[in-house]
Amino acid sequence: MDKGIGASPGIAIGRAYVLPSRNREIPEQLMESADFTFEWDKLSVSIRVSKTELEGIRQDIRELIGEDESHIFNAHLAILEDPTFLNEVRGIMQLQNKGAELAVKEAIDKFANMFDLLDDEYMKERAEDIKDVGNRLLKHLLGEEPDITAPPMETPYILVAKEVTPSAFIQLNSNDVLGVVTMLGGKTSHTSIMARAMGIPMVIGLEGKLQRPIQTGDILIVDGESGQVLVNPKVSVIECYQGIKARLHDERELLQDIAAFPPVSKDGKRLEIRANISSLKELERSIEQEIPGVGLFRTEFIFMDRASVPSEEEQFQIYRQAVEKLKGNPLVMRALDIGGDKAISYISLPEEENPSLGLRAVRILLIRQDLFRTQLRAIFRASQYGPIRILLPMISSLEELRAAKDIINDVREELQAQGIPFCSDIPIGIMIEVPAAAILADLFATEVDFFSIGTNDLVQYVLAVDRMNESVAYLYDPYHPAVLRMIHHTVSAAKAAGIPVSVCGEMAGDPLALPLWLGLGIQEISMSVQSYLPIKKSLLNTSAEESKHLLDKVLLCQTSDDIRRLLLGMLTEFSNIHASQCSEEEESRDEG
Ligand code: PEP
Ligand code: MG
Repeated sequence: MDKGIGASPGIAIGRAYVLPSRNREIPEQLMESADFTFEWDKLSVSIRVSKTELEGIRQDIRELIGEDESHIFNAHLAILEDPTFLNEVRGIMQLQNKGAELAVKEAIDKFANMFDLLDDEYMKERAEDIKDVGNRLLKHLLGEEPDITAPPMETPYILVAKEVTPSAFIQLNSNDVLGVVTMLGGKTSHTSIMARAMGIPMVIGLEGKLQRPIQTGDILIVDGESGQVLVNPKVSVIECYQGIKARLHDERELLQDIAAFPPVSKDGKRLEIRANISSLKELERSIEQEIPGVGLFRTEFIFMDRASVPSEEEQFQIYRQAVEKLKGNPLVMRALDIGGDKAISYISLPEEENPSLGLRAVRILLIRQDLFRTQLRAIFRASQYGPIRILLPMISSLEELRAAKDIINDVREELQAQGIPFCSDIPIGIMIEVPAAAILADLFATEVDFFSIGTNDLVQYVLAVDRMNESVAYLYDPYHPAVLRMIHHTVSAAKAAGIPVSVCGEMAGDPLALPLWLGLGIQEISMSVQSYLPIKKSLLNTSAEESKHLLDKVLLCQTSDDIRRLLLGMLTEFSNIHASQCSEEEESRDEG
């Protein structure tokens, strides 16, 4: 039995599809002149494949979004036919004896840099087009990046990979994927968050822990709760897990009964529970579960499953649909939070040694104001259809907040001058996810309308533990006393200033943490759709008064072990269905 980290609960049983690892190295060696024809033919095939791919995307965009938005792909197709570009590539190949890959890379770099240096936004965008087309061409030339959505085997399957980026994950068809197993990754990485949201069991961090490598076609049992992965288990073990899976399903069905109950504790204290979403599809799932409102819309994900920046109109249509579907329930729109583990293929960001501490979130928005302004215009326009709040990610100083607010005011004035209708008093809040913001919460509270505590990043930055890195996962501890003191300090500052505070990190979806929020007097928590009903059930069974007393004790604890022990004592509802019940069967297999 191999054990990693359970990143998304549930049990998956099925055949493995092992994603071949990709090779992004471009060979540096020179070619023989005689190889020119071979290399040129290879390039011609890749151009043809790229064109077919682009034509397909253009058609999809035309049908799904509109004719105007599909034009960007005309520009991409034109680059692939451009004689200046093709002559440059040919020249590098013939005069410098470089292979097709190297020649394409150098030609793309040359033209993209030329456009990038011009002091003209339109030309800079063309540089992005050139890079995008170049990447596509290189992908086909190198035969790299196997298509994650098209496994060479029957569906459904369990995806096994070194790692899966959020932008690749978003392209998966959730009906095809029973479960996911990765060698790298962290429990609060965005891929894990998405797996939880989609209800796909996932185990991560198996690097160096497998008794032998998993092969495509192996039968796997993936237990996303305990982190166990069983490879080719015996039939009785499979049957045992199938039984557990069916019972977990029944338990969940029963929970559905409480969906319509008001969100109050055993002693009548109200705590709003809302959803975290990253797409309209997720919003639909949240509405099916009767979740009243969205506490966090991770808008960066609508930038991922596509080939270029969504226009103001495209964004407006998405945000408008979201707000309308919510029928008066609130929608917290977080401004684009890219960087870190959330790369967008067509937005070029510098390669960084330490992306979590680098260009991320609001830092990018203040540099790429074009992205920020376009998104704000779309959000403001959607605000006339229902209650929207704007949330700024990763704020770490007042200067940063003020600069972002200046841009927001600018956009507001611009829309006013253009006579475009919008709601004039959209609340503006900040994520509290960097220690500096938590420590200065009293100052921030006088300049914003609300706080939302992002525990995923707050834990990462308070404890100096990369949330993506499985080798330090054992140190990533939301119940560390330092984290809880920061949260307590933030909530006290918000209360003193009279502004609302919510929690939107993954910790909000952990039943163990619920007495903390009740004890602190927090008004709102939000979480992935799958966590909603279990948390609501815990809320109905927990006393707010007892939680307050417990919090006093928690704040005096010196270690997270002590804190967890106290919280475990309060845990009212616990599923008694555990897959560990099958482990005896498994052990007897090992012995046999
Ligand atoms: C957080 O950091 O807690 C958060 C909610 O934002 P994200 O997980 O998207 O970084
Ligand atoms: Mg965050």
